[in-house]
Amino acid sequence: MRRAEGSMRKRLPRARIETYLAPLLRATALTPRMLRLRVGGETLRGFAAGRTADERIKLFFPAPGERAPALPEIGPTGMRYPEGAAVPHARTYTVRSFDPDTLELDIDFVIHGDGRAVDWARRARPGDMLGIAGPTGGWTPAPEADVHLIAGDETALPAMATMLERIPAGSRALVIAEVADEDDEQYLEAPPGTEVRWVRRDPAGWRSPTPLERAVRELEWPEGVVHAWVAGEASAVRAVRRHLLGERGLERGALDASGYWRHGMTVEQWVATEGDDVNADEASNAGEASNAGEAVSANEAVSANEAVDAATR
Ligand SMILES: Cc1cc2nc3c(=O)[nH]c(=O)nc-3n(C[C@H](O)[C@H](O)[C@H](O)COP(=O)(O)OP(=O)(O)OC[C@H]3O[C@@H](n4cnc5c(N)ncnc54)[C@H](O)[C@@H]3O)c2cc1C
Repeated sequence: MRRAEGSMRKRLPRARIETYLAPLLRATALTPRMLRLRVGGETLRGFAAGRTADERIKLFFPAPGERAPALPEIGPTGMRYPEGAAVPHARTYTVRSFDPDTLELDIDFVIHGDGRAVDWARRARPGDMLGIAGPTGGWTPAPEADVHLIAGDETALPAMATMLERIPAGSRALVIAEVADEDDEQYLEAPPGTEVRWVRRDPAGWRSPTPLERAVRELEWPEGVVHAWVAGEASAVRAVRRHLLGERGLERGALDASGYWRHGMTVEQWVATEGDDVNADEASNAGEASNAGEAVSANEAVSANEAVDAATR
């Protein structure tokens, strides 16, 4: 295996983070467990999406019965809410696509069990208002890789789809996607040479190693320079990351791994449990691209309603 040179996560200068309130225009079921919500209109003028593949946004959800969520002010010391405002539920999602001409933003929601974000997505009707901060994100498939290994669960599919739109000519993508059921497999527009492997969640329930981890472990490792991007349930991502670094010998700069959610825990519980130690096993390497990816997610979670970084990463 040839080794990768340089980091695949290119840090771009941060765009100024803005907040937006936008109405829901339309909800479309992509699969039984994936709902595409299109929000947009004049209020999204200036929304600066499209710079990288895995752009994320912080969403602010109105409470039941509330017309629109309070939006934070984003200043040098963090996010601040107007005096007396109810602090809204906030979660991170991916920009699936944004059209600067029509000012329409698509966000794909996994319809999982219970959660205030998913409950809002289920109930939302055209005209309901969503708060948005961002976008941010800094990864794009690098031209120096021969093969882009892209692995994740349903929450990562929106980012995976945008990545497949940006695979540089001359390299190819190998995708491993874990979904609950066959019905949840989505059409992914991909360049020629892309191989997509769908794996199913265990019907018997959650257990480790997850099907995603098993599929990556069983992979016949491709020839050439391999870069990998992994996202999804945090413990699965961590296991895959350890495997890729430890057993496959991938260099840290060639790996971007991010926990997107944590099985059995709300984001707040996840952060309270793991907090800044979420990457404790690699604490000494903090700052390297592979850890930064997951740490970013954890930190986003930590500061969901507090710090400006939550909205700016
Ligand atoms: C950078 C980034 C990008 C993301 N992009 C997307 C995206 O584009 N689309 C998307 O759907 N999600 C995305 N996520 C994940 C999303 O933020 C989480 O799933 C979030 O926890 C949902 O919030 P909630 O309020 O519905 O549930 P929470 O209050 O956080 O959790 C409630 C319960 O639901 C469980 N749960 C949460 N998510 C899932 C899930 N996906 N499957 C099964 N159980 C779950 C939790 O374990 C908990 O038990 C992204 C996360 C990050 C960090």
